[in-house]
Amino acid sequence: MPVLVMKFGGTSVANLDRIRRAAKRVGVEVAKGYDVIVIVSAMSGKTNELVGWVGETSPLYDAREYDAVVSSGENVTAGLMALTLQEMDIPARSWQGWQVPVQTTSTHAAARIEDIPPANIRQKFAEGMKVAVVAGFQGVSPEGRITTLGRGGSDTTAVAFAAAFEAERCDIYTDVDGVYTTDPRICGKAQKLDKIAFEEMLELASLGAKVLQTRSVELAMRYKVKLRVVSSFEEQSDAAGTLVCDEEEIMESKIVAGVAYSRDEAKLTLLSVADRPGIAALIFTALSDAGVNVDMIVQNISEDGRTDMTFSCPTDQVARAERALSETKEHGVLNFAELVADTDVAKVSVVGIGMRSHTGVAAKMFKVLSDDGINIKVITTSEIKISVLIDRKYMELAVQALHDAFELEKAV
Ligand code: ASP
Ligand code: MG
Repeated sequence: MPVLVMKFGGTSVANLDRIRRAAKRVGVEVAKGYDVIVIVSAMSGKTNELVGWVGETSPLYDAREYDAVVSSGENVTAGLMALTLQEMDIPARSWQGWQVPVQTTSTHAAARIEDIPPANIRQKFAEGMKVAVVAGFQGVSPEGRITTLGRGGSDTTAVAFAAAFEAERCDIYTDVDGVYTTDPRICGKAQKLDKIAFEEMLELASLGAKVLQTRSVELAMRYKVKLRVVSSFEEQSDAAGTLVCDEEEIMESKIVAGVAYSRDEAKLTLLSVADRPGIAALIFTALSDAGVNVDMIVQNISEDGRTDMTFSCPTDQVARAERALSETKEHGVLNFAELVADTDVAKVSVVGIGMRSHTGVAAKMFKVLSDDGINIKVITTSEIKISVLIDRKYMELAVQALHDAFELEKAV
């Protein structure tokens, strides 16, 4: 039997009624002849509540117990989904991560899946079970402790199962009906994309389009899993959604596929650091030791052997970054004139695989921003992406102007 993976996010299993609705969709696929692996999230809001309880109980918590608590939301929905399917006379049972087993690393709260031996579930399918309901987001470490995969990790569970079982497709049921050219809440002209390439999705996911966990897209790309994002709220069960696929499967790829943004950015500049080997290593080692997630990095041209170093990081990590860098100065490890923080910035990016073969995207982007009087503070590029830091108050304007300029309303 061909295997299909269906993943239901928190809003799709938010209450018993929604679980019933989701189960009906599963029933439709079972009737088509699939063996189905259903991956469930916790009911929406549940994981946040559990995370809150852990923090209240123990501010400097033991990460192993954090995982024990926080993984439990998925156990509830897995059991309820299996019961609901049984009520519909569909042979189903639930599996917690450790039972499968979903083998992960021991990095608690951010574990990575190492292997999913399919034998146990395959055996049950062979015995006539039609649906394996698996608790997403969780696994088991080599030490035998429960682990979780990081927030949003059920997406990654789903893709990993699709790879392990060579599933025909991995459908991610969520509260949006697909991947959009940009956030429809910011830009009314945003269009749903029929298809998007893995690499584009990867950029969009990591740039803050919260539809899929970034790691799940990486996995799908590596194992060539056909990934589809569909709404669980549309009546029609085969509503097309967005297919995330290999770029070869996209006939007419646009130069720019989407515009992404991220509001929580801050820009920090170290003024006048020595321009010699080892200084950048020193700065960014101090930052990484302090747990600061550095994104963009720009080093200026030096004068008289001194240079300025600018980088960006999430707003809530600015204090940590400032402390780490001040300490290096106090300890005489690093000498700089001043540390200037700008916490009122946002990042706006255009993404598209077409950029590899087309010139002029950057020029057009900068022209559009300048036409609206928006100053660019930092620029970074990759092969398929151009990102700028701008004043946060211009973020929405920038997204809309770029969406217009690249004619994304005609995307489909
Ligand atoms: N329930 C987990 C979370 O809220 C995992 C997931 O739903 O993907 O992050
Ligand atoms: Mg999610």
